[in-house]
Amino acid sequence: MVIMAHARCARFHLLASTAALVSLALCCRVQATQIPPPKIVSNSSIHVYLRDEAQGPRLQWIEGTRAASTKDVFWSNPEVESLPDRVEIDAVSIPVTWQLKPDLGHNDLRKVVFVYECKEPHLRLLWQWQVRADFGPAEHRITIENLSGREVWLPMIDSLRLNWRAAPTRALRNFYVEKGADTPSAEGTHQDRVDVGYRWVGKSTTYAHPLAGEKREIIPAEFVYRADNTESGWYAGIEFSGRTRISLERTGDSVNSVLGLDPEPGPFRTRLEPGESFETPTVFLGVFTGGPDGAGNQLRPWVRTVLGNPTTWKDPQYPLTVNNSWGSGMQVDEPLALKMIAESKELGLEMFHMDAGWFRGVGDWYPDAKKFPHGLATIADEAHKQGLRFGIWVDWTQAALDTEPGALNVRDDTVSDWLVTGLQQDWKPEEFKGQTIDIGVPAAHDYAAKEVKRIVEDYHLDMLEHDGYLVAQGCTKGDHPHAPPDRSSMRLIRDSGFTFVLASNSTDVSYHAVRAYYDIYEKVRRDHPGLLFEICNDGGRMVDFGSAAHGDYFSITDSYDPLSNRRAFFDASYVLPPPMLESYVEKWPTPKLESFLYMLRSGMMGWMTIMTDTAAWNAEEHKAARQAFALYKKDLRPLIRDARLYHVSDRPDGIHWDGVEYWDPARRKGVVYAFRGSVADETEHRFVLAGLGAGKHYRLHFEDRSSPDRESSGKKLMTTGLAMYLRDPLSSELVFFEESTATK
Ligand SMILES: [Zn+2]
Repeated sequence: MVIMAHARCARFHLLASTAALVSLALCCRVQATQIPPPKIVSNSSIHVYLRDEAQGPRLQWIEGTRAASTKDVFWSNPEVESLPDRVEIDAVSIPVTWQLKPDLGHNDLRKVVFVYECKEPHLRLLWQWQVRADFGPAEHRITIENLSGREVWLPMIDSLRLNWRAAPTRALRNFYVEKGADTPSAEGTHQDRVDVGYRWVGKSTTYAHPLAGEKREIIPAEFVYRADNTESGWYAGIEFSGRTRISLERTGDSVNSVLGLDPEPGPFRTRLEPGESFETPTVFLGVFTGGPDGAGNQLRPWVRTVLGNPTTWKDPQYPLTVNNSWGSGMQVDEPLALKMIAESKELGLEMFHMDAGWFRGVGDWYPDAKKFPHGLATIADEAHKQGLRFGIWVDWTQAALDTEPGALNVRDDTVSDWLVTGLQQDWKPEEFKGQTIDIGVPAAHDYAAKEVKRIVEDYHLDMLEHDGYLVAQGCTKGDHPHAPPDRSSMRLIRDSGFTFVLASNSTDVSYHAVRAYYDIYEKVRRDHPGLLFEICNDGGRMVDFGSAAHGDYFSITDSYDPLSNRRAFFDASYVLPPPMLESYVEKWPTPKLESFLYMLRSGMMGWMTIMTDTAAWNAEEHKAARQAFALYKKDLRPLIRDARLYHVSDRPDGIHWDGVEYWDPARRKGVVYAFRGSVADETEHRFVLAGLGAGKHYRLHFEDRSSPDRESSGKKLMTTGLAMYLRDPLSSELVFFEESTATK
């Protein structure tokens, strides 16, 4: 009863204004003198109510706001969070007792920190909630500081445990998307029924390595919502690239979700030296209405505002149009590079991206003198002279067999100590894949930081792409800062040219290595504002919100045909800003100009990189490409950056029609990317649009003149839909629309 009184009281005042918090406190005191009011973290989208109880902290409830049209979203969490009850010192398990320290905490509308301390061993736990933007989700993390002066081993500490009340009769859905790693699967985007008895686990690692019998990795987020006309609910995700998991379970009258580091294979333990801190991966938690696109249209701008690099977003050319050399594979050399630079300029592309093949050898990141007799900086300078930017591919944690000065050689004793596993005498690298060093080892981190800095500076880079199995997630070594592996259950898997170690310490290895990776990129960014980072990792294997906070764009799949590009974009664009989502456009059969445009447009919904020999295009294709790139820069890019995105078709299957809608309420402009599938007689389709004003009118412009330009009401576009006609299978159209200012 008291809690209900609190709820009503708090909601009433927050609807009025956040400045009413004083009266909120007064009101609550009048109604329940025994129980202090909850602490609140709040912005225009969410209010989070928190309690610092003696036995532990508690996320009491979350609710939406009138400003975000989510005021009826309300989820309550009855349980106090249990804090870790044991640690290990000198291999002995020791109970810990936590005591609330109100004086050490922090409490304002933007940030609340509850502090608990253990006397013996002396540990401090900070339980923090924060909002970093005026809108969007709140963020949470737990930090444990070792003040004991002794080495302490911590058990698994989850980032966030949710235990919501939910009537068993309430119909719920769980929405999540897979990484596009390798090739997007046939499903990709999932919408599960969450009935009583439902149990789901989604995992993410630094390399989406497929293991037999294991599900595909997800971009670590879940959207859970009511299956009614509000489609309202909560969403949560993990801002970390290491081995993480999200679980969701429904039992009786509760819905439970746990987010954080992956406890498997485990048992997880992590070392805390005196003075060190352990930090759980930060998680975000938001509320929404309007189903997955409703959540996405809040989450994507939040990722841009809070996680994104402000310098990158200020760059009006972001996302850039790029010409990449991988169309010629490892054969890139100076004449080809210079030819591609000239060709890029002629086509109106903005960056020349040199893929693998330029270096002396794996781990030996110096230009091959036979291919590049004048080095790389001269190539960069030529690109700059032509008004282009210059970027290269490097897999900077890979060691191999080169012996030249500066090369990372696996037979060198120091380097050998850094490797995630020992190597056979006859081990050989592949063409562009070597053996991963564990950058969680301080000396390896320092080497890598210096090497990345050298590469960026010596080669005059505007962009650095990293690829492959860059960040370790398993290690056989017992003398690294991470926990040693349990050798009895350790597995070594050789695949895709890499050796993966799966052992009890895998999650801890990834925890340390990911932090080192973030540290290296944060430093390089500080030294080189404006430098762009592409996160590739064999195409879409490290797509997560931690990477989104440290890189500028992702290669979202390793399959580059039009359908794979559209599928990977369809999935990832639910959770990440479209400019961050790169499609590589590869050579594809284009018997007609329609198919050529279909190929290009399938890769130009977000960041577009051309990865085919443009010199092989005929004159008609060349002209069409120039026009398409000009249109992208002038009319599509502003929408890709700023507009809301709606998935206005089923996921692409290549057979039927598919499309996405961008709508920018500020510019009152939008576009529909429309693609026709392979079915011979499916010449017509209707896209039911979203986000428009029912009473407004819109001027429609069909870029390829597939239909005459016309005007339509918002109501019609959002009910009967946008009627399309395309004569040819596997063709496309761009339909621009603008709000009509004339009154009807
Ligand atoms: Zn290691």
